[in-house]
Amino acid sequence: MQIAQNTVASFDYELTGPDGEVIDKSEPGQPMPYLHGAGNIIPGLESQLEGKAAGDELTAVVQPAEAYGERDERLTQQVPREAFQGVDTLEVGMRFTAESNAGPMPVTITAVDGDTVTVDGNHALAGMVLTFKVKVTEVREATPQEIEHGHVHPAASEEECCDDENCSNK
Ligand code: ZN
Repeated sequence: MQIAQNTVASFDYELTGPDGEVIDKSEPGQPMPYLHGAGNIIPGLESQLEGKAAGDELTAVVQPAEAYGERDERLTQQVPREAFQGVDTLEVGMRFTAESNAGPMPVTITAVDGDTVTVDGNHALAGMVLTFKVKVTEVREATPQEIEHGHVHPAASEEECCDDENCSNK
């Protein structure tokens, strides 16, 4: 079976960044399943998996626009330390949720300089060309419930899936 709209595909992957550093990878024997055509994974990877079958291997190079977007410097802000009341130690790399005009936004501290703290609301992989080494391990038809919900259900608990809070697309 080939990967197409409304199939569930699983794949092993290794993700490397522009300098060849490994950013993420699947655990051995634990391929990642996704529902094809539902936007579960980044568009540039999804489109290159289309038509592949179990056993196929590919290297997908994905530009930022098809991945996590370009960096937006307007999402970088300097805020006073007082904005972090209740936090004793502020360190680069700490994550917070900031209130923004567009609602709650996850931000990461990128600099601490005296009483000035720089936070960045960009996705950590924004602006990066990403390379995925992928091996497709399984392709199957999605169930009607999976198609309705727009995500993969673990096979064993298909019926109960949407009683649990992990199911965000009821
Ligand atoms: Zn569900």
